[in-house]
Amino acid sequence: MTSNNVAVIGIGTIGSMTLWQLARRGIKAVGFEQFGIAHDRSAAGGESRMFRTAYMEGPEYVPLLKQSRELWEALEDETGYNLLTLNGGLMIGPKDSTRMKNVIQSVNDFDIDSEILDAEQAHIRFPQHKFKPDDIVLLDHEAGYIRPELAVFAAAERAEQLGAVIHRHAKVDSIEEVDGAVKVVANGKNYEFDQVIVTAGPWTTKLFPELKQNLKSRKIVMTWYPTDKLSNYKPDAFPVFGRISDDIQFFGIPTLEGTMVKIGSVDTFGEVDPDNILRDVKLSELKQINKAVQNFFPELRSDPMRISVHMDGYTTDEHAVVGAVPKHNKTFIMGGYSGHGFKLAPVMGEIGADLIEDGRTKFDISHLDPARFMKGE
Ligand SMILES: Cc1cc2nc3c(=O)[nH]c(=O)nc-3n(C[C@H](O)[C@H](O)[C@H](O)COP(=O)(O)OP(=O)(O)OC[C@H]3O[C@@H](n4cnc5c(N)ncnc54)[C@H](O)[C@@H]3O)c2cc1C
Repeated sequence: MTSNNVAVIGIGTIGSMTLWQLARRGIKAVGFEQFGIAHDRSAAGGESRMFRTAYMEGPEYVPLLKQSRELWEALEDETGYNLLTLNGGLMIGPKDSTRMKNVIQSVNDFDIDSEILDAEQAHIRFPQHKFKPDDIVLLDHEAGYIRPELAVFAAAERAEQLGAVIHRHAKVDSIEEVDGAVKVVANGKNYEFDQVIVTAGPWTTKLFPELKQNLKSRKIVMTWYPTDKLSNYKPDAFPVFGRISDDIQFFGIPTLEGTMVKIGSVDTFGEVDPDNILRDVKLSELKQINKAVQNFFPELRSDPMRISVHMDGYTTDEHAVVGAVPKHNKTFIMGGYSGHGFKLAPVMGEIGADLIEDGRTKFDISHLDPARFMKGE
């Protein structure tokens, strides 16, 4: 085991889990977060996140997701918080779409507790939705929802209990490998570490401008809709869902606070500067999601009751950037989760700790290799 002194830069979704995993191994770790812990100004806010295992983004994620689920449960055991609820998930879309092919491939290649339904069977079991005759529906029993703010809070709090230190409201201005160490400057103060892992989410390119071409911060708009049939949208009646339709990809989560249902677009609304994001929402940005609600949810009103604005770092291939920065052996990066990183956060924390401890991990993360976008200059 390394006796290194490690810095984790950005204690949001991935950083909090990395700090927890490092502290669990007894590795001395210091976190830097520019805001407070579990703030909602970045990629972790908005009340809920989907967890799913039959994976639209590719079956290569399934082993990571299985391990992530175990670690979500471990974090719940260690902290006593209820973070992940597996109430099932519907993956819906045309059979010949790439994303539904990935879902089917995931259940064919791995042992996932699931059922395949045709549109008619799905309609009988889940009448809240309107299905199209050519839709295929996979009911993933290993899917559900996560409470994101509480998850970040729980991981950071647990890391501190295990000995990690967190500098809150401490913005890292620069990192530099010098003479066998890494120099970190935060709020104008100098620190020195043996290794550094950067988990800065939408701010990643501020520390690695080289990635600007392939990693952009994008605006995400979340929407919650009212209904007078709320009992049909409680977690036991309404599995989370991800749906591909002709002109929109969207998802939904049951009512958690008991007054409205979250149905959100997967589409993003342009590149943003994370330090200067405008949080107003134009009617035109709601057009497609309102139309989808109107078309597919007859019991929901198609004008949202709650709207919120967030962001995430998106890469050009929508896979994250995870590993050592090329030509650097003390600086690691984990960013660019492209709108689907929350469910993976605990396993990413384990991978981060593996990289710090051994320089490698047993998980196949070849599709996330930073070298596809960076030369390390
Ligand atoms: C609205 C919304 C819905 C989503 N839905 C889902 C979903 O259903 N399922 C799913 O799996 N994923 C989902 N995602 C994606 C997922 O939430 C993100 O991929 C994930 O949260 C990214 O985590 P991160 O750690 O990279 O970024 P963040 O959580 O944003 O963490 C980065 C942290 O670094 C800090 N930071 C940045 N720069 C510095 C600096 N220089 N110094 C100090 N601190 C710094 C930031 O303040 C922040 O706290 C969704 C994302 C959004 C926004």
